[in-house]
Parts: sequence; structure tokens; C-alpha cells
Amino acid sequence: MSRQLAMGARKGSQYLSDLDNKHRELWLGGEKITNNISKHPKFRAMAQSMAHLYNMQHDPNLVEEMTYVSPSSGERVGLSFLQPKTIEDLIKRRVMMKHWADYSGGMLGRTPDYLNSDLMAMSSASEFFNRKGEKFGANLRKYYEYIRENDLCLTHTLIHPQANRGAGPSKQADPFLAARVAEKNDEGVIIRGARMLATLPLADEILVFPSTVIQGTADDMPYAFAFGIPCATKGLKFICREPFSEESSFDHPLASRFDEQDAVVIFDDVLVPWERIFLLEDVEGANTLQEATSGIVFMSQQVIIKNIAKTEFILGVTSLIADTIGITEFQHVQEKIAKIIMMLESMRSFLRASEADAQLNRWGIMTPDFKPLNTARNLFPRLFPQLRTIIQQLSASGMMALPSETDMENKEIRPLIDTYYQAKNTNSEERIRLFHLAWDIAGSSFGSRQELYERFFFGDPVRMAGALYNWYDKEPYKQRVKEFLHQKE
Ligand SMILES: Cc1cc2nc3c(=O)[nH]c(=O)nc-3n(C[C@H](O)[C@H](O)[C@H](O)COP(=O)(O)OP(=O)(O)OC[C@H]3O[C@@H](n4cnc5c(N)ncnc54)[C@H](O)[C@@H]3O)c2cc1C
Repeated sequence: MSRQLAMGARKGSQYLSDLDNKHRELWLGGEKITNNISKHPKFRAMAQSMAHLYNMQHDPNLVEEMTYVSPSSGERVGLSFLQPKTIEDLIKRRVMMKHWADYSGGMLGRTPDYLNSDLMAMSSASEFFNRKGEKFGANLRKYYEYIRENDLCLTHTLIHPQANRGAGPSKQADPFLAARVAEKNDEGVIIRGARMLATLPLADEILVFPSTVIQGTADDMPYAFAFGIPCATKGLKFICREPFSEESSFDHPLASRFDEQDAVVIFDDVLVPWERIFLLEDVEGANTLQEATSGIVFMSQQVIIKNIAKTEFILGVTSLIADTIGITEFQHVQEKIAKIIMMLESMRSFLRASEADAQLNRWGIMTPDFKPLNTARNLFPRLFPQLRTIIQQLSASGMMALPSETDMENKEIRPLIDTYYQAKNTNSEERIRLFHLAWDIAGSSFGSRQELYERFFFGDPVRMAGALYNWYDKEPYKQRVKEFLHQKE
């Protein structure tokens, strides 16, 4: 590992200095960006938001709830690395993750706890990775400890490029389209090809793992691997989408702070050192990894906590809109807000049920019950678009009556804005701020990306539902009905 000195929970300044000094290759709008990323106009705000998350770990009011004492170094480290042994540990993890989720109203999908949780679960199950040699399990354990002790942030990429979805990676016209093993040598494995997508290319390290849903076949062996390397690795290139980040926090309260970015990842003959490889040319291992290690369960727990934070935030936004323009007494308005309450309380119940029925998994880790979490992660992509629709239905033209920050600063027009943008129970400025926020969730490019994210980030919802269907034990219910068919009284 390049940095051996353990330092425990990071401060924001340490994250920013690593971001600037470790030279990754980002491409954005025709520009190649390698240096001083935290100062780039399109990355600056998100880098600051990440720094804020890390600083929260040092807030005297939060430090106890956000960190714990490392079993190896004795330093305080991030609580999402905690390997839970009891239900109380699961609750501690939940409390920590909620603090991070609330910071952005659930709009950041990739607070570091998401992948820390996966890595924690996989490392606890490191024996699983010994399938083709004990060195792989040991690599993973060391990697987990390295990430935990240095509090590094991870991104990940699971999916092959979207060229021909009617065929697997080995059956594409170009066998080197999807990232695959090109060569092996004494130092490690050379990977060539591409993967999509990596949210948060401002992370320190990238995990390259198999998809949680897509099953490989025997022909896909060169594509079946798991490893973790620094984002600043020679030959690794991130091609970013158009940025949705905006300058003004008045005009775009979310896009101005929380554009995580999404990038296609190109492996231009990237050397992955042997000690960073956890699984290699192992299709069966790749197909079973997430479920066997409980990685998927711990990621789901983090996701549902984020969903709760997001639904609470939108409940606040819609309730304020209703108060602000005096529509609280209309029945359909109450019904729509009640629907959000139903979504929120459902998500909370799924989470609590998963904790209440938690059990030790075969690796000795207290693991939430996956049934409610799996249901919740399938349900939320179907609910989230409705939340955006409700904001549009309640806001109507209010979301178009939006003077900008510069209009507000203009002395000539401001008195008229104050007169004509009145609200029932607040002043024009507060009303305009609220509706800008509504637009950033329900209308803007940032908001549209939120919907696409919720629909797809955990996998194709159609195949995820298929996986739920196949995984869920339906036999007791079929049996009950069969017996019922023959009952006479
Ligand atoms: C905003 C955003 C952020 C993301 N961040 C990440 C990330 O950080 N890391 C990461 O690894 N991934 C990330 N993803 C990618 C995510 O994992 C994929 O979107 C998801 O797995 C679906 O794959 P796909 O997008 O390639 O869709 P496709 O598989 O190309 O699907 C396109 C359409 O074809 C249908 N389809 C395709 N194949 C089949 C099939 N076999 N059976 C039935 N229907 C099929 C799908 O249902 C869908 O309607 C992100 C996605 C988004 C939108």
C-alpha cells in the first residue's frame, strides 16, 4: 500500500490535499484535468461537500456517534467500518450513516459509508475470497484495514459498456470493449477495456467488482475479477458527463453543492498489483460474491437510511410549499403529502424490521434481515419519481416564478419582486429560496439525474425484481393455497 502511516478518521483538509496532490486523469468538456481538482470550478463545490463530511467526524458533538476506536491502531476511525457483532452495533452504524445522509437531504448517493459498508462486509467474509488461493482473502483483509486506517473514500464500477446488451462481455464485437485481463506478469495483471459507471470520480480509490445482478457465463472468465486501486493509477481515465454543478447556492441550492459526477472508466492497460487483487478469472465467485459475503445487505442498509433522509427532506419541502402558498386545506394536497408520509414510514419500518430480525451471518457478523431491505431497495426506485411528481403538482407555476440571485441584488427590480412574490406566511425571499429548492429536486438537470440515479444505481430495476422473485421463498404460501383448495369446512 502506498501510504502506510495510519491516521484514523480524516479531516476535510486531508481529503482535499490528497485530491489535489495525487494526479488522476479526469476528462470534462474536452479538458484533461489532473492537478488541483479541488480548485476546479466544476469540482470545487463537491470537493468542499466531501471535506465537510469528513470534518463532521471531528465535530465534538458528533465524534462519539461517527467514529469508534480502531481494533488495530487505537485511533478513532469512521464508524461505517465497524464490523457489527450485536444489534446495538447495527444501530450505531445506522445513527452514523443518518448524520451523513441528512447533510445533503439524501441527495448524495456516495457518501463514503456506502462502499465502506460493502468493503467491511467483504473483508469480514474474506475466507470467501480464498477460492483460488489464500493470498486473495489476505489481500482483501489488508486492503480493508488500509482504507479504514487512512479513511480513504471509494468509488466503484460494476457494469460493462452499453454497446450490445443482447450479448455478454465475451460476445461483443470487440472482445476488449469491456474491461478484461489482457496480460499477467510478475507485478500483477494488466487490465484493458472500459466499465460504466463510476459515481464520484473524486474518490481516492476505485473498486472494480462484479455486478450485483448480472450473471456471467463460463466464457466471461477474463472479465470476472475484483480489485481495488487508487484513482490516481497510470492508464486509468475517467470521462465525466456534462456537469450539473452551478455557482449560485441561491439559484441552485442542491446543484451548487452536491453534484457527485458520474464517469465512464477506461482502463488503458492498467497494471493492478497482485496485492490489490481479490478475485481473478472466477465466474462463479463473481456471480455469488455479493450475496455470499452479505455485502449487498450492508449496502442496502446504507441506501435505505439515505432514502429515509431523502424522503424526510422532501416531506419538509412539500409541507413548506403547501404552507407558503396556502394550499394546505385542499384535500388532494393533503392526500399527496400523506402519500409521502406513507413512503417515509414504510422505509423506516423496513429498516427497523431488518435490525430487529438481524442475525449473525456465517462469518460471525450481525447482519440485518435482507427481506425487508431487499423489498425496500426494489420499492424506492418505483416511489422516488412520484416524489418529484408531487413537488411539480403542488408547485405548479411557482417553480417558474423564480428571479435569480442577481435579480434579487438589483436595486431597481427588487422592490417589485418583494411586492409581487409575496406568500401567505413568509416574505418573498424565503418563498423564492424554497421554490428554487423545489426546482432543483423536481425540475433541474440535477433533479433529473437524481431520478435516473434512484431508478438505476443499484441495478436494472427489471432484473432486480426478477432476482427478488427468484430469491424469495414462496413455497409456504403455495402450499397453504394448495391445502386450502381441498378444504371443505
Ligand atoms: C446516475 C447513475 C449513477 C450510477 N453510478 C454507478 C456507480 O457508481 N457504479 C456502477 O458500477 N454503476 C453505476 N451506475 C450504473 C448502474 O449500475 C446501471 O445503470 C444499472 O446496472 C443498469 O445497467 P445499464 O445502465 O447498463 O442499463 P442496461 O443494462 O443497458 O439497460 C437498458 C434497458 O435495457 C433493458 N435490459 C437490458 N438488458 C436486459 C436483460 N438482460 N433483461 C431484461 N431487460 C434488459 C433494461 O431493463 C433497460 O430498460 C449508475 C447509473 C446511474 C444512472
